[in-house]
Amino acid sequence: MNHPTTLIEIAAERAVPIFVFDMARYVIAAGLIAALVWALRRTAWASRKIQKREATWKDFRREFLASMRTVIVYTLVAIGVMWAIRHGWMRELEMSYSFGTDLLALGGILIAHDAYFYWAHRAMHHPKLFKSFHKFHHQTMTPTPWAAYSFALPEAFVMAMFMPIWMMLVPTPGWVVFTFLAVMILRNTMGHAGLELHARGWASHPVLKWISTTTHHDLHHCGSYSHNYGFYFTFWDKVMGTEHPDYVKVYDRVTAPSLQRPSTDAVPSPAQ
Ligand SMILES: [Zn+2]
Ligand SMILES: [Zn+2]
Repeated sequence: MNHPTTLIEIAAERAVPIFVFDMARYVIAAGLIAALVWALRRTAWASRKIQKREATWKDFRREFLASMRTVIVYTLVAIGVMWAIRHGWMRELEMSYSFGTDLLALGGILIAHDAYFYWAHRAMHHPKLFKSFHKFHHQTMTPTPWAAYSFALPEAFVMAMFMPIWMMLVPTPGWVVFTFLAVMILRNTMGHAGLELHARGWASHPVLKWISTTTHHDLHHCGSYSHNYGFYFTFWDKVMGTEHPDYVKVYDRVTAPSLQRPSTDAVPSPAQ
């Protein structure tokens, strides 16, 4: 059996399955979280909607189409990775080491991706980069799960490059990469859910406060562009002093029982 070796041959054989896999990952995760939010808004948790504003059909259309474009960028980068593997410039994904070692690798990839995201995101807020890299994502004022991959082309490329860089540095088992990709899209869509999905007291809990919440990223979209750059964890924002000063207060207000909950309009207006 002939193995495809040129970029064109690899693309011809793999582009469609990779595109379908990545699109399914996005559509399933965003669809699941959107359905969950829709159901919760018919319960007492309706009061956990973070903003009063509703995302519009125009927002959904822009976010969905841009996410499809991002999936195309991910597909192209994955084809490049396969081509590099075929020519011996990158290593194939490993088989499993041992369960414990694999879990360590999964923890490592999440911590590394959190750092990569924080610093790339913060850099893209630099006035010299913001317009061409990140302004498009911030057309979303009221996040919905469909905004997860709503990036301009340069930002989509920056996001897609994490995986090849990691694979060049750390030989990683295939199932660990697969699990990472699932966790990544799930946390991304949860961060853009628009309705707080985490438990009451989370933002001030001694352990859980280190894990990000929906309110954490929502505040970045609707409150202040100079706070809350993190992804899975609040570590970098806490250490670098970029956590929104009202984060815990807003979180507690959003998650308060509906009868006690006043408006969240005290959130400051966005400023780049
Ligand atoms: Zn966002
Ligand atoms: Zn941003």
